[in-house]
Amino acid sequence: MCDSCRAGARLTIDRLDEDLIGILLRRARLSAQVVSGRLGDGGPPRDDAREAQVLNRALRSTRSPQERETLAAVYGVLFERAVADARARQDDAASPCTRGPRAVQVGPARFGGGGGLQLIAGPCAVEDEAQLEQAAAAARAAGATVLRGGAWKPRTSPRAFQGLGERALPLLRRAADAHGMALVTEVLDPAHAPRVAEVADMLQVGSRCMHVPALLRAVGRAGRPVLLKRGMAATVEEMISAAEYVRDAGCEQVVLCLRGIRTFSDASRFTLDLAAGPVLRERTGLPVVVDPSHAAGRRDLVAPLALAAAASGADGLMIEVHAEPARALSDGPQALLPDELAALMSKVRAIEAALKPVMSGLD
Ligand code: PEP
Ligand code: MN
Repeated sequence: MCDSCRAGARLTIDRLDEDLIGILLRRARLSAQVVSGRLGDGGPPRDDAREAQVLNRALRSTRSPQERETLAAVYGVLFERAVADARARQDDAASPCTRGPRAVQVGPARFGGGGGLQLIAGPCAVEDEAQLEQAAAAARAAGATVLRGGAWKPRTSPRAFQGLGERALPLLRRAADAHGMALVTEVLDPAHAPRVAEVADMLQVGSRCMHVPALLRAVGRAGRPVLLKRGMAATVEEMISAAEYVRDAGCEQVVLCLRGIRTFSDASRFTLDLAAGPVLRERTGLPVVVDPSHAAGRRDLVAPLALAAAASGADGLMIEVHAEPARALSDGPQALLPDELAALMSKVRAIEAALKPVMSGLD
């Protein structure tokens, strides 16, 4: 094979692998679920008749003895791994310390797995160093473990402030480090994912991008936990599919975020669908946080929605804060003042403390 033919073949193999990894993982998860069900019913771990049927179907696709051997070897491994994976899941389920949603650790923040309610707070967008510092100090003072702040802003109007872009990244990193917080920021363009992953501890996919497979794959490949926000018109099923894209790309550390959906209600900017929280947790095993700021769209509604989210068992809250909301370049009307954030969080902590014995079934 000539050098350029080999290079071309490798390129094609890389592309095939991208598809293959996703397909293999989906297949492995589904077959482990089937085996888990069988083990749960007290049945044998393997179904020989079914395995023979699956393998024979595959073998019909080629007459080459070598290729048939390859297929038999690959399926042999898949069948074996499904049993090992199902047994590991059963062990996890039986162990009390892993009960509840899978934990996602982001610096000091532990989402799910008994980590308590985490606060992600900060400005809507990074505007300048001083504004970010004030917001980061307010976030930390209110107990935030993760700093938020947009570098690239997905604005409805192309004429609205679009964010500082790349320039905001070092500012965000410095502010997070200065206050001992982890950092989450939104990725808008798949090409930016590797660069954002060098700087941030967690990559955010925003509501407007939840349906974009190229972005979901890019953040899934970036090697950082992902905060996936619900599309403003997305069903729960669609959100689960979006999370599957991220997981298929190799990232199991996904935190889901409810931020309100479009309905006919004009009481708030979006309608906060809190019922989706327990449904998503049960269906995916992933932690779920709630963003009352974007749901409310108005400062006075942020607190009641945040308290309701805490009472519903949210694994965290994401709240926007700004020292001078009237001068904010984006989402000023929904930003809390530093004092308001601190006051809200002491109420949230009171709810969390009151619910703890109830939730763990001790009361
Ligand atoms: C944000 O959190 O910065 C944001 C733009 O929110 P959403 O994607 O939910 O509108
Ligand atoms: Mn915002």
